[in-house]
Amino acid sequence: MFRMAFLKTLLFLSIFSLLFTTITLEVQASPPSNMVKTEYNSESVIQSQDKSSKSNLQQNSSNKLKKKSKTTLSELHQKYPGTMVLKGPKNQRIALTFDDVPDPRFTPAILDILSKYHVPATFFIGGKRAKDYPELTRRIHREGHAIGNHSYDHPLFTKITLAQFQSQILTTEQIIYDTVGVRPSLIRPPYGEISEAQLKWAKQQGYKIVNWNVDSLDWKGIGKEEVKKNVLSHVGPGSIILFHAGGGIGSDLTGTIQALPVIIETLRNKGYTFVTVPMLIQTSETKK
Ligand SMILES: [Zn+2]
Repeated sequence: MFRMAFLKTLLFLSIFSLLFTTITLEVQASPPSNMVKTEYNSESVIQSQDKSSKSNLQQNSSNKLKKKSKTTLSELHQKYPGTMVLKGPKNQRIALTFDDVPDPRFTPAILDILSKYHVPATFFIGGKRAKDYPELTRRIHREGHAIGNHSYDHPLFTKITLAQFQSQILTTEQIIYDTVGVRPSLIRPPYGEISEAQLKWAKQQGYKIVNWNVDSLDWKGIGKEEVKKNVLSHVGPGSIILFHAGGGIGSDLTGTIQALPVIIETLRNKGYTFVTVPMLIQTSETKK
């Protein structure tokens, strides 16, 4: 009898303690919401949980912010792979591209070198520049180079409206068409920047946005050796290389002009062939 009673008590005690533990755990696991706010007397566990969830939130939102401002272009590139182009297929072909043309100070010397080496390149023309220098624009086209649209007066696209962007593209396109009879299918945004709405419109209209995967950084006015190094240390199959053949007041592209023959010879010796961007990515120079 005594043993029976003892067992019963033990059973009762263990059930009770189990129940108690469960209740305690439940209380700890889900503190009432006001407990978090009036946390002065609460347990440190709750405080630290609250802290960590706060900092997680902060971290998440700062990651989102970082992501948004930092990877916009690569996100766009991933989202619109056929429209936003950074390079061509990985074969032995590469494309030299020249921005901010025409510019009578530098473009003729660049054209002379390309002509001497029989290298076709791609020139991204500014509408205002083409209007100011139609003969130099015609020379670029006449010598077999491809032509792309580099906006009318070089604004940062992400700072202008969709309507302003459309006007920049269409005005330039008309000037280029009136000068050389080409309606460029390729757009190179100044500074390589473009918004998603602008990209969407460009896609609907059948344009391609052409950036680059090798940057000579020649706009900085650096010397021959630096231009050479910036290009040759990053170039590979299918590369689209960014140079300038024009610039603003005080620009100096002597480094580009001096480095270009060496770059062409070096890359030819490595087995590369130079093609225009439309050839590289197998698209038409002219809008359909
Ligand atoms: Zn530019």
